[in-house]
Amino acid sequence: MSSFRTLDQADVAGKRVLLRVDLNLPMENGRISDATRIERIVPTIRELVGRGARIVLLAHFGRPKNGPDEANSLKPIAAALGEHVGQPVAFAADCVGPQAEAAVSALKEGQILLLENTRFHKGEETNDPVFVAELAKLGDVYVNDAFSAAHRAHASTEGLAHKLPAFAGRGMQAELDALTAALETPKRPVAAVVGGAKVSTKLELLGNLSRKVDYIIIGGGMANTFLAAQGKKVGKSLCEKDLVDTALSVIAQAKAGGCEIVLPVDAVVAQEFKAHAAHRVVDVDHVLDDEMILDLGPKSASRVDAILRTCKTLVWNGPFGAFELQPFDAGTNEVARVAADLTQAGSLVTVAGGGDTVSALNQSGAGDRFTYISTAGGAFLEWLEGKVLPGVEALRKS
Ligand code: AMP
Repeated sequence: MSSFRTLDQADVAGKRVLLRVDLNLPMENGRISDATRIERIVPTIRELVGRGARIVLLAHFGRPKNGPDEANSLKPIAAALGEHVGQPVAFAADCVGPQAEAAVSALKEGQILLLENTRFHKGEETNDPVFVAELAKLGDVYVNDAFSAAHRAHASTEGLAHKLPAFAGRGMQAELDALTAALETPKRPVAAVVGGAKVSTKLELLGNLSRKVDYIIIGGGMANTFLAAQGKKVGKSLCEKDLVDTALSVIAQAKAGGCEIVLPVDAVVAQEFKAHAAHRVVDVDHVLDDEMILDLGPKSASRVDAILRTCKTLVWNGPFGAFELQPFDAGTNEVARVAADLTQAGSLVTVAGGGDTVSALNQSGAGDRFTYISTAGGAFLEWLEGKVLPGVEALRKS
């Protein structure tokens, strides 16, 4: 049973439901380039429609700094949302005040209204009680389906939860269930893949994970810093030389807590950082001065695969190599495929997310066979770092 209040406990029939969603969609030339975030909120919206709620959507878009501006308007998104939900979505040009109030009053049961960008008002990010009260006037119940914004204590992500009966939407619930299963009450052994460019952005994450998991498998550019810390020559690889001592203390801290840090034993190296650059496979002891490590080598990938076969849970953040440049996506693809096969065979729970991880796993073709892929960037990372997410805490059962 979930430790959060969910739609199962909410009385929504005929009620005005303020539903916080994530519509901060990637756009290219005014068009939505990836509608995944819309797809994730459709189940909650459809359920509320089916239960006869009057649905008032709250969301932010971009980072407007000086009040309303057309570039950050949510207006163009209403129509796309309507297409995904299968019914029209009305739009109000403000999220509080007379325009919003009139649009909410006009809503009938089962109808949907999208309010303009909450960040057009300063009170959103300052969580101003006056702004929270203005928003709260528009609803009887608050539902939060935007896990990806839950690391911020803003008016629409946290403040409202203290003003109205508050519940997790189905997308939020799925995310919380997946993250709880991965890190709070996981089946052991647990492995974490931590890859990506730099150690400096992942220190807190490594510290927290080393207290919670059995293996931390390090990949990507950040592995180079760990290799350098062990006295290996990494040539012109991306490497944070000033963090070698930190890397050593991460290893020592993990070891003291019974967590094994797994580093590459071989690598794919090239002289240039570009797709299809001439490359070779070498043991990590034999990287030349003019070479850079761009991917995991095959021996390392097999070793990671073998560890995953002994594990019951995997948390994954960050690619194993420069996955945007072929063929340096091979290591990420290989391990992703094995993780997906183990997931489908029922022996591994796989939860992945954060930044480039979603693109890397989608590109590998294995992502849709993972147990759960989080589209949340910052919020997913903060959860991995062990931080309290204010928007989530406000939904916890007391
Ligand atoms: P992050 O956002 O920290 O997860 O890092 C993702 C980025 O790390 C991607 O753009 C990758 O291309 C990059 N990356 C991964 N491995 C390497 C590597 N060995 N050398 C340089 N960049 C890398």
